[in-house]
This record gives sequence, structure tokens and C-alpha cells, in this order.
Amino acid sequence: MFGIMQKKIWTQRTTKMHGVAQRFRSKIIHFLCVTPCILVVLCVQKSYAQNLENSLQAQKLVDIQQVDPSLLVELKYSTTDNFVKKDVYGELTRAYMQPMAAQKLAKANALLKREHPDLRLLIYDAARPRAAQWKLWQALPQYPERERRKYVADPREGSIHNYGCAVDLTVARVSGTRYEALDMGTIYDFFGVMAYPSQEGRLLKEGKLTKQQVANRQLLRSVMRQGGFSSIEYEWWHFNALSRKKAMMLFRIVE
Ligand SMILES: [Zn+2]
Repeated sequence: MFGIMQKKIWTQRTTKMHGVAQRFRSKIIHFLCVTPCILVVLCVQKSYAQNLENSLQAQKLVDIQQVDPSLLVELKYSTTDNFVKKDVYGELTRAYMQPMAAQKLAKANALLKREHPDLRLLIYDAARPRAAQWKLWQALPQYPERERRKYVADPREGSIHNYGCAVDLTVARVSGTRYEALDMGTIYDFFGVMAYPSQEGRLLKEGKLTKQQVANRQLLRSVMRQGGFSSIEYEWWHFNALSRKKAMMLFRIVE
């Protein structure tokens, strides 16, 4: 009887040890299989971003924060917080533009700071490679191409962003190292009338936009126009440093 009990305890211990060993082995296998995959994905993302930055620099575009370190940058297409819900830029975190456009942006930011020392321009997107333009274009299949052009330029023609001459941005209030975007009435990349600068008067009258939201948009437009940018009809956040025609004459598309 004692022998049988001992054998049972021994068998239980062996089974328990076997279970621990199996769990340990599966953890090792998981580590050996999953970790390299994660590392490969991170390396691919990093090298894509590095290649992208190399080609932007090769075309003489500049990191806008090198021109004005007080500009805030939060590239929305480098996160999943955008209308395609995908990270389109990978590890890219710096915003690039043509030097003349970066100078205009610095001028607009200086005007803003002079009037409102606690406010800064917050950049959501700047130079955008044509490959990313295709991803954005294809993310809106629900709109016929004619309608789609209101929100995303046709990649076959190229967006002014593709030349490094357009910028998407807002105004943010800074406090120490933190900042918060002002309320513009819609989120960035909101597709619809509520984002149209051309409809603000009507939207205000109908109570769909508040006086403060319109005033915030007007402040952004005012400093950007004084900086040398032009605004467009359908997006409060988009500004061009040059017309498409001039951008095409002077620069090449970033592919
Ligand atoms: Zn834009």
C-alpha cells in the first residue's frame, strides 16, 4: 500500500514537473518564434521611415523643426488616429517641407506667438510621398472619384502635399511640455460640410458651429495667410504654400 502511495505521489510529481517543463518549453518556442517576427516588423518600419527621410532629404526638403523648433509636430498618418485607421508613414515622426514653405510656416508661427504667447502651430501632415497618397485615395471607395477629389487629391495628378508645398495643421495651446489643440468644430480629416471654411457663416447662423470655433479657425487662417499660404474651400486644416502649377514647375513629386 505504502509502495502504491509513493508511486502515486511520484507519478503526480512527475506529471506536474512535466507540465511545468512543457509550459516552459512552449514559452521558449513562443519567444523564439514571436520575438524575431516583432523585430523584423520594427526593422522594416524603421528602414521604410529611414528610406523615406533619405529621399526627402535628397530632394532638398527640410525638417520644419530644424527651421523653427517651436513648431509642434504630430504626424497623424504616422499613427492609427486618422481616417484610414492605419499607420501609413511607419516610424516617420519628422515633418518635411520645401525650404521656402518651411520659412513661410515659421513666419506664421512667429505671428501667432507674437499675438498669443501661449499658442503654437501644430502640424498634422506636411510632405507626403505619392505611395501614401495612393493609400489615402484607395481608402475612400464609397465616394465616386469626382467627389473623392474634394478630400484627397488624385495620386495620378499628385497632391500639393506630394511636392512638399502643402501643410495640414491646427492651433494648440501650450502649457509647459503639454499642449492641447483648440476646438475647430470638427476633427482633422472630417469629410463633410462641417469642415468647409466656405460654409462657416451659415453653420454659425444655424448654431452648428460656435463663435469660438469659428474664431479659432479664423485665427489659423489669418496667421497662415500672413505667412504666405492660401486656404482651400473644403478643409479648415489645409494650406498651400504654392499653387499646384507653380509647385509642378519648381519641384519633383516625392514618390
Ligand atoms: Zn492637406
